[in-house]
Amino acid sequence: MGIAVGHGWQGAVLKLMRGKDFTFTVTGAEQVTEDYRRVHFTDGGLLAAAGVHPTMWVRIWFDNAGKPHQRAYTLVDPDVEAGTFSLEFALHDGVASHWARRCAPGDTVDATLQGTGFEAPDPAPARLLVVGDPASLPAVNSLLDALPDVPATIWFETQNASDEDLPFRLDPARHELRRVPRRDGGADLVARVKAELPALADPASYVWIACDTATTRTLATYARKELALPKERVHALGYWRAD
Ligand SMILES: Cc1cc2nc3c(=O)[nH]c(=O)nc-3n(C[C@H](O)[C@H](O)[C@H](O)COP(=O)(O)OP(=O)(O)OC[C@H]3O[C@@H](n4cnc5c(N)ncnc54)[C@H](O)[C@@H]3O)c2cc1C
Repeated sequence: MGIAVGHGWQGAVLKLMRGKDFTFTVTGAEQVTEDYRRVHFTDGGLLAAAGVHPTMWVRIWFDNAGKPHQRAYTLVDPDVEAGTFSLEFALHDGVASHWARRCAPGDTVDATLQGTGFEAPDPAPARLLVVGDPASLPAVNSLLDALPDVPATIWFETQNASDEDLPFRLDPARHELRRVPRRDGGADLVARVKAELPALADPASYVWIACDTATTRTLATYARKELALPKERVHALGYWRAD
């Protein structure tokens, strides 16, 4: 489903809803690759109450042996009228991943809406320069969908052989995917982006970075300080913490 681009996604309604809890119910799941699973949900009233915006994410409360364990996940194909969406889990050894592997129709999770938002780059960028990985693939797909006319270069860090078959929603006419196998805690990705970004980046472009927190911080600092790109043209958010 396409999401129209405009201003004011994080409007009054979302602000009022902040911190409000919703209960999502599993309706089904698909094993997309060996290491990537899509789970379908009904939304417990979330979408009608808060609307949708590109890269929208929720904080989900998983049970960790009786203790609450909160993790962020990105809405995939939110359908406001039907009150449904999916989540895509990049699987690894973690509580949220384990829950996703085992969940069955009828299972529920509680969620909190807090922190999500999206400011459309203004003016519209001449090019999107995106750095992501399997955890941020749902957000990358959503971002590209929200800016359908903008060409994009995507540096994508892969972790598994199966990442070849991940559900990228790319248009080969406008989107160029550059895969980088993860090595040395993200060092190869940092080196590759530093080598290739300068030729493409200028103040008319928009840089969007979401990978592990250390790599994200390094690349965001590089883009802002060394390339001197305007702050508002560089969006960066660490999506997971490597050990
Ligand atoms: C705004 C936002 C949106 C996000 N959207 C998504 C999404 O749509 N889909 C998605 O899969 N993830 C998404 N993430 C990332 C997800 O929240 C983290 O990966 C989270 O740590 C998973 O929790 P866990 O309980 O499975 O593992 P944790 O208990 O957090 O970690 C357990 C172990 O797994 C490792 N680990 C954690 N995440 C990863 C990973 N992605 N790859 C490899 N190793 C990892 C840790 O280093 C640790 O060793 C998002 C994060 C943010 C901030």
